[in-house]
Amino acid sequence: MNISCRFVTAVVFALGLAAFAQINPRPTLNIPPAAQPGPNFDVKSATDAWLATVPPDQKARSDAYFEGGYWLQVWDFLLFSAIMLLLLQTRLSARIRDWCARITSRPNLQTLLYVVPFILITFVLQFPMGVYEGYIREHQYGLSTQTFGSWLRDQLVGLAVSTVLSAIALMILFAIVRRLGKNWWVWGTVASVLLLVAAVLIAPVYIAPLFNTYTPMKDAKMKESILSLARANGIPARDVYEVDESRQSNRVSANVSGLGSTQRISLNDNLLNRCTPEEILTTMGHEMGHYVLHHIYKSVVFFSLILLVGFAFLNWSLHWSLARWGERWQIPGITDVAVLPLAALLLSLFFFITTPIGNTWTRTEEYEADIFGLNAARQPDGEAAVDLKLGEYRKLDPGPIEEFVFYDHPSGRTRITAAMRWKKENMNVLDEPSAVPQPR
Ligand SMILES: [Zn+2]
Repeated sequence: MNISCRFVTAVVFALGLAAFAQINPRPTLNIPPAAQPGPNFDVKSATDAWLATVPPDQKARSDAYFEGGYWLQVWDFLLFSAIMLLLLQTRLSARIRDWCARITSRPNLQTLLYVVPFILITFVLQFPMGVYEGYIREHQYGLSTQTFGSWLRDQLVGLAVSTVLSAIALMILFAIVRRLGKNWWVWGTVASVLLLVAAVLIAPVYIAPLFNTYTPMKDAKMKESILSLARANGIPARDVYEVDESRQSNRVSANVSGLGSTQRISLNDNLLNRCTPEEILTTMGHEMGHYVLHHIYKSVVFFSLILLVGFAFLNWSLHWSLARWGERWQIPGITDVAVLPLAALLLSLFFFITTPIGNTWTRTEEYEADIFGLNAARQPDGEAAVDLKLGEYRKLDPGPIEEFVFYDHPSGRTRITAAMRWKKENMNVLDEPSAVPQPR
């Protein structure tokens, strides 16, 4: 064989491989025997069979990862509280305020100036915990694909974004506290909600691209199936976005972000590379459920109400605490920006205690999106298979109280049970396409 012939063979071989990849670009779905359709199909046995496909060591690992997360929530809260108390007790907060007052006499600028060292000090003191939680632990459990340098870069970009956004938001909130006095918490909620809506609106266009690259989806065939599903559900989508989250981790995920004209559905490259078409379609059906059921708008309303209660609690507890310790911390009243660590501590206490309420709200929306996705995409087995992949970082089979308190998405068992129940009731439709009513 001469060189050119070898070259031709290599090219033909490469083309053959490319053609094979074109025809068979994705893994295929393996349905366990007990979940196969048939007259004896049983929802619980089928669900158990799907769950049993996860090797025990892998299940033990994702259980440990998720259960460890419960404790991390507690430690994070305690660490944050300790840092805030340190700022108050050492009167560092009061000293930063005095420093700001020496630089400018304008209260709004003082607030802006105060926020920068406040956020930096908090970031530095939380940093060791952040490294463990966001980098070391993620690598220990085999979930992260990032080098330390790349991870640190993301943290610093996040720090810059949150410093700018927090400074603007706090300047507005303190101006409201100074102007409106007693009723600040009502108008403070209104302003916070407007700021939140603005953040959701700009996030997909200005914030998300700082961390990842969003490109129109490349796989034309898959894209057409997704757009067809969108059209069938009245979604005016012309494009599907693909995001390179394999930069950070191997987690499978997709989401709806933005509001109004910036609202979009994105799926990550892990989902595209690791999943069967059935899994991708059911995931897209789920995301379209969020869109069609207006979940972003409903969540804004719900969390506004939670925030209103939170600000009412904050107003009361700030006055209560300052009456006791205000003198010691050198903070005369709630219009003083040095009160910020106390406000942050009390608000984080409020959100820590109300975690199960927030989780139950999102978990309920996620369940609605699952049901929508099952009805829209009609891929119950794809749903079960992708639920197991989500189980790589979320305990698959928790107890009911555990699920109520800690889960912001339904557990794998809940989701697969819903999928298998749907499958049982739709078996004739799935088996015989002609059973689908035809237009007359
Ligand atoms: Zn969802």
